[in-house]
Amino acid sequence: MNTDKNLKSISSDLLLARRQDLTNSLPPLDQVIRGSLITRYVKCGKSKCRCVSGPGHPSLYLSSLHEGKTRLVYVPASWEPWVQQRLDNFHRTQDNLAELTEINLELLKRRIQD
Ligand SMILES: [Zn+2]
Repeated sequence: MNTDKNLKSISSDLLLARRQDLTNSLPPLDQVIRGSLITRYVKCGKSKCRCVSGPGHPSLYLSSLHEGKTRLVYVPASWEPWVQQRLDNFHRTQDNLAELTEINLELLKRRIQD
């Protein structure tokens, strides 16, 4: 559903149904991480390693902002799907809350209480 400027033309019943869908499709809130995955390249220091002449060995990190500071947490390759799922859950939650806000604002304008 396009919620940008077209909410006005949508019936209240449809808005309430959409709101229910959004609520039902919220990801599990205990499985969210706010942050992003980044790759850092690190030279291992071995004089004969191929990384001497290259960018270094790639390592995955989770970058997360907390109280104004960015933290980097190393993510083993086997944990990437686990982390990615939680990053996706966070974004889906954020998108859902944004759309729920738009719907609730429109319901407020129409003076429709739940
Ligand atoms: Zn190396």
